[in-house]
Amino acid sequence: MNALTSLSVALRERSYEILVGPNLLADAARHLRPVIARPPVVVVTDFNVAQLHLDTLTGALDEACIDHFEIVLNAGELTKEFDTLERLIEEILDTQPERGSVIVALGGGVIGDIVGVAASLVIRGIDYVQIPTTLLAQVDSSVGGKTAVNTRHGKNLVGSFYQPRLVLADTGLLDTLDGRELRAGYAEMVKYALLGDGAFFDWLVDNGGSVLDGDAEARRYAIVTCCTAKADIVAADERESGRRALLNLGHTFGHALEAECGYDGDLLHGEAVAIGIVFAFDLSAALGLCPAEDVSRVRRHFNDVGLPTGLDALGKRDWDAASLVRHMEHDKKVRRGRINFVLVRGIGQAFLTDDVGTDELLRLLEDAIAA
Ligand code: NAD
Repeated sequence: MNALTSLSVALRERSYEILVGPNLLADAARHLRPVIARPPVVVVTDFNVAQLHLDTLTGALDEACIDHFEIVLNAGELTKEFDTLERLIEEILDTQPERGSVIVALGGGVIGDIVGVAASLVIRGIDYVQIPTTLLAQVDSSVGGKTAVNTRHGKNLVGSFYQPRLVLADTGLLDTLDGRELRAGYAEMVKYALLGDGAFFDWLVDNGGSVLDGDAEARRYAIVTCCTAKADIVAADERESGRRALLNLGHTFGHALEAECGYDGDLLHGEAVAIGIVFAFDLSAALGLCPAEDVSRVRRHFNDVGLPTGLDALGKRDWDAASLVRHMEHDKKVRRGRINFVLVRGIGQAFLTDDVGTDELLRLLEDAIAA
């Protein structure tokens, strides 16, 4: 059965729907029409996605007689920066948008994040719709309204909370995604299981292969489970003053690795998150908080699906524990000078703490570098 599932992110006047299922792109005009108060629609995408999927969307808009413009950006993390943001905003303004016009972000997390920033700024806020095309974007970045660009001070340090009007997660679009990108998105899927849903982790251990191999129903079920979890968390804590920070499981370590490796595709965000999650479990076990068996299960599952679990997967590098800690200290997750960690008491039992000593952290990283 290839059903369409509708979920809602309950945020009072900023509430919106997430639709998950196949063929949503071809049917996009029907879903977009209620949110377009004033055509044209401005579709922003990247070169890769444009070649594969833009025609389907523009064809659907043409058929429905909805005027549209397209803006195509370079693909990749380096696009999420100020120069591109400025050019994007100018190009959006060239289309003379008015309040009630809509921008559509057709792409992965990079397009979703930069379009979100642009939408929040153009004429002091214009509506936007997310059509996520990577697994990572379908289960995570397209939902929840975090928008961002990177700066030389670090990743995602500039942006705002600005919710989309609608999310259309067309599971069929994942068929063109390469295996490495798919696995990187899968790491974020596992994150939801590990932070709060042990039964979902068991399901992923049994069915993760089907999700990655393209079983449409397994994909839909897994994406819906993740989006439901994210929608609940965002509804309870939109601006990350508490519970939403649990979604950063693996990210404190992961962002430090990304900063160290650069953002040129050597290490994908989801791969960094997978290694970061294993670090978070290792640290939890080292502090006597989490059973060693749970750490082994997590590591085994990532290994089974082909995700990296340690620094050795990143080739020979001059790792330096102190430098990794410095990256962590510059992350957004630092409050009152203390690094905020998401640790675990076991699979499905994440919690927040800033009570991790630098010595313990350095010891863990030095052991990992020596291994
Ligand atoms: P991405 O947007 O760079 O996409 C990965 C690659 O896949 C790109 O080359 C893209 O062109 C290509 N691609 C996209 N869809 C495709 C398709 N259907 N078929 C073939 N190729 C396709 O990367 P991503 O992993 O989607 O997103 C990573 C970004 O998301 C990071 O910048 C990260 O910081 C951000 N992020 C944001 C949030 C949030 O809450 N806003 C959450 C998690 C991650």
